[in-house]
Amino acid sequence: MDYKTATAKKQTETLATLSELIEERYGTSRKTLSFSPESPQPLRKVLESYNFEEPKPLKEVLLESANLLKESNLDTGHRSYFGLFNGPAHFSSVIADALVAAYNPQLSVWSHSAAANEIESHCIRFFLRRFGYGDLNGTSRGAGHFTSGGSESNTTALLCALNDQFPNFKREGTFGLKQRPLIYVSEYAHHSLKKAASAVGLGLDSIRVVPCDSSLKMDPVQLQQMIDIDSRAHAPFCIVATAGTTSAGVIDPLEEIAQIAQKTGLWFHIDAAWGGAAVFSEKLKPFLKGMECSDSITFDAHKWLSVSMGAGVFLTRKKSILDQTFGLQAEYMPAEVPDTSDLHKTSLQWSRRFIGLKVFFALAELGSTGLSKQIDHQTALGDLLRNELSKHDWIILNPTPLPVVCFTHPLIRAGKVTTQQVLQLLYSKQKHWISETKIGNETVFRACITHPDTTASEIVGLVTELASLI
Ligand SMILES: *Cc1c(COP(=O)(O)O)cnc(C)c1O
Repeated sequence: MDYKTATAKKQTETLATLSELIEERYGTSRKTLSFSPESPQPLRKVLESYNFEEPKPLKEVLLESANLLKESNLDTGHRSYFGLFNGPAHFSSVIADALVAAYNPQLSVWSHSAAANEIESHCIRFFLRRFGYGDLNGTSRGAGHFTSGGSESNTTALLCALNDQFPNFKREGTFGLKQRPLIYVSEYAHHSLKKAASAVGLGLDSIRVVPCDSSLKMDPVQLQQMIDIDSRAHAPFCIVATAGTTSAGVIDPLEEIAQIAQKTGLWFHIDAAWGGAAVFSEKLKPFLKGMECSDSITFDAHKWLSVSMGAGVFLTRKKSILDQTFGLQAEYMPAEVPDTSDLHKTSLQWSRRFIGLKVFFALAELGSTGLSKQIDHQTALGDLLRNELSKHDWIILNPTPLPVVCFTHPLIRAGKVTTQQVLQLLYSKQKHWISETKIGNETVFRACITHPDTTASEIVGLVTELASLI
């Protein structure tokens, strides 16, 4: 056998092994959830055999890595993982990610990857219409692109806001400003905004935290008052509302905030990383009213749409702001093709992966009807979870139509047992995973429906288990 045939044979065998591993992953549902080990030592021991001096056969590396992933990770793809927003990825994401790696198109310039760029912009135009920038079945307005995730999208939003409000910002940065620029967020806003504020050179002191009312929503009256007072000595430039807070799934009063943004002339960004998926549900869509009045939106397809990570989306109503914020001339980059734009000139990344294919696959395979079915199913399970918990004396703390539930128990409030003690017991059974968060000063449980195939039986199972532990 010549070398070429031998290589091809090995590749075919490795692909067959990969295919079996993926089939096993998607085909079987394990009774117990795997967890990460409590210490890194066992994993480091296994990895010691990789000194990267001698080569190893790819198939062996594949099998060993698959085994590590299977046994030594918290299984976020389990139906009883009621965790952070990332559940399992649609099978189509696996196929898309493999195809992307095989072709490895360079998306920074259109002329290098026309097909990939057009697939992405086709999806972006769809999202622009869905999120209210344009007509649902007509034309889209504004612009956008895929990002690595919500953090990058929020950083992009702050940069666009700065460049919109301070036209010399790109050249002069914060040194060109006489007053401190201020961003307004609610106390439940995502921490990536703090990171973004420090990364773009504003510093954490540029963030004004607007208190929330009893329903955990940003209080628009206080927002207006804070902007009025701050404007005397500082330069308020951006309001960030959250549509589906990370802790509690609460949607800030978007219409009222939009009015304040309009009156004050501030940039209005909506962080809808998880909750934005509600636009696919007829039932939930009305809760996002006001979104269409924003200047920019963060959305993550790798959260509620169950696309593999990282698949973030950044959308803006103001098309020209992207080039104004990111556009630079680089003499080594090929010239732009008419009627197209090059992503390196309109976004933070330079060399960039074809993020959008897995999103395109999910949209194409499921269609809007499939997506709304998934969203509505998970929403109904959130309602069921709230009902079941209430029946067993648990107290629900977050008013939201979205399927994330924050709760506590009278015995926890009375100091008889802590949430941490209950969680340790729950984790030791390896059947369910929920997390802790804070509502106000109170530490509470948080359970989110993240798996598209979770059913009523897993919900009842969780509540029964919790009842037995308290
Ligand atoms: C998850 C989340 C983010 C951060 O997104 P990543 O994709 O994890 O970077 C930002 N905002 C909200 C509201 C989130 O839930």
